[in-house]
Amino acid sequence: MLRYNPPLRDMQFLLEDLLNAGQLAELPGYEDASLDTLKAVIEEGGKLARDVILPTNGPGDIEGCQYDAETKEVKTPKGYIEAYKAFVEGGWPAMSAPVEHGGQGLPHLLKFVLDEMICSTNMAFGMYPGLSHGAVTALHHHADKELQDRFLPNLISGEWTGTMCLTEPQCGTDLRLIRTKAEPNSDGSYDITGTKIWITGGEHDLADNIVHLVLAKLPGAPESTKGISMFIVPKFIPESGERNAAFCGGLEHKMGIKGSATCVMNFEGAKGWLVGEANKGMSYMFTMMNGARLMVGMQGLGIAEAAWQIALDFSKERLQSRALSGPKHPELAADPIHVHPDVRRMLLQQKVINEGCRALAYWVGMNLDISHAHPDEKQREAADDIVQLLTPVVKAFLTDEGYTNANWAVQVLGGSGFTTDWGVEQLVRDARIARIYEGTNGIQALDLIGRKLSIKGGKLIKRFFAIVQGYLKENEGADYSSELGDLLAQLQDATMWVAANGMKDPDQAGAAATPYLRLMAYTAIGFMWHQMNAVARKKAEAAPDDVFYQAKIKSAKFYFEKATLEASSLIADIKSGKEALMAHSIDELSAS
Ligand SMILES: Cc1cc2nc3c(=O)[nH]c(=O)nc-3n(C[C@H](O)[C@H](O)[C@H](O)COP(=O)(O)OP(=O)(O)OC[C@H]3O[C@@H](n4cnc5c(N)ncnc54)[C@H](O)[C@@H]3O)c2cc1C
Repeated sequence: MLRYNPPLRDMQFLLEDLLNAGQLAELPGYEDASLDTLKAVIEEGGKLARDVILPTNGPGDIEGCQYDAETKEVKTPKGYIEAYKAFVEGGWPAMSAPVEHGGQGLPHLLKFVLDEMICSTNMAFGMYPGLSHGAVTALHHHADKELQDRFLPNLISGEWTGTMCLTEPQCGTDLRLIRTKAEPNSDGSYDITGTKIWITGGEHDLADNIVHLVLAKLPGAPESTKGISMFIVPKFIPESGERNAAFCGGLEHKMGIKGSATCVMNFEGAKGWLVGEANKGMSYMFTMMNGARLMVGMQGLGIAEAAWQIALDFSKERLQSRALSGPKHPELAADPIHVHPDVRRMLLQQKVINEGCRALAYWVGMNLDISHAHPDEKQREAADDIVQLLTPVVKAFLTDEGYTNANWAVQVLGGSGFTTDWGVEQLVRDARIARIYEGTNGIQALDLIGRKLSIKGGKLIKRFFAIVQGYLKENEGADYSSELGDLLAQLQDATMWVAANGMKDPDQAGAAATPYLRLMAYTAIGFMWHQMNAVARKKAEAAPDDVFYQAKIKSAKFYFEKATLEASSLIADIKSGKEALMAHSIDELSAS
């Protein structure tokens, strides 16, 4: 059975002591976002997650969604409707949505915190409001006022949900291959025809209407991604209530997130309206996807946190063998397993990576808010550079590590992890998809190395280097400054290598992409752990008995002395180049 307590102390430490998130209230539009407000909202969100959403998780995994082939409708698992109702009534869908359409306009950072808690308690459930938020973002930025007025208020209130319809049987990563067509009508609407697959929340029973954002091609559109347009296609036409010809053709059977309806969607001449300009759909979809990628990163962290909490509890309860250094609890039949160094290794890997990932994500979240709301254009640009650079890192690293950490939890639990009683095997299954959708993690690495490094002549990565270098200069001789300096030097070395070799031969850049992303993650998270250690040491002077600060100090040691050891193999991997990867012919690869 899953169990969960929101890690409020860590969240508050990051917001208050590490990031000084109270400063957000000084930005225009965020005046209400005082630290006290942020804390109160997080506490309420934690209660909702633990008390309302968590109970739906295990049963929802067993029951899954049900498809009725006659009505083409989908039933979500028991308890989802009530949980979604509570979510809507609490105003949660509106939290970070634009005020002019009925949103509360609170910082995006707060949504990062909420997303983690929801995904710790039921990632499948979190997909429904998650996709809606993406649709709101895309429409807010790109739709004209008429479309915004028709669709945004109900999406923001949560009375309707949204989807993102890109994937088709013949195209996943490569969206140039889209075949869905849009034929213009004389009244300004379009008839949308085509089949989309794997559409999250394409059909369900949680909301009165479902608003699909569909990528399709207009007649005569260019063959490339520059020929793709975005259309808004509601299940029911808002004004008339008429059922539109957008039907679910069936549900996918899948490894995890079974409570999330993953639908085949058939658009049979469905009525739609063009969002923004023709042929700009891909760039509009990226507005939605960038936010969605950060959210998916939080899914990875959310699952990892839930798995860690179970592993920790189990390690205190399970009695096996005696500590190598002699019994620690002679009054018991055996010692609890957390006394064993090998179990400690697994527990600490989870704790320290999770806390580091949380700090990194919140830092990016702060920058996202600054990039939207700061009155000074230079500050906005600087913050946006960090968000752009680190979005693929947050998506890929947090989901890779989320999956790895859920697996560590299974290992800590032994046979009890593989069987279903404690629920961690479900977490492994649920976590797996986050490495695949919203652009696979391989594609995130290519985005980082192929696009983000070259934007504005390398300005993004130079900005990151300057921030960490400046910080190290101010903290010369501090704990772990030399370790963080080494990580930074390796990343700079790797960046030079990629610049020198990747330009001449794109396969070299492709070969370096994944280890490069991981090296950047270790460096960025090292930057976070360095600061967390410094803050915790200072706080510990006034509160020497507070175990929270002692834990942070000791966790920083684990991060720099153990967790980052992979970094030196990453730089070796990058520099060994593509040869060993690309040497086989396909016949040689198949030879066995
Ligand atoms: C549960 C679930 C929910 C989903 N929800 C949605 C949704 O709501 N809306 C939607 O539109 N889609 C959705 N998807 C689809 C998802 O976004 C795609 O699965 C994903 O983009 C990858 O596409 P693909 O599966 O076709 O893999 P492919 O594109 O076929 O890729 C297969 C492998 O090849 C690699 N690869 C492909 N191209 C390259 C390249 N150029 N360079 C290096 N490696 C490459 C990939 O990284 C991957 O490892 C969902 C999928 C699932 C399973």
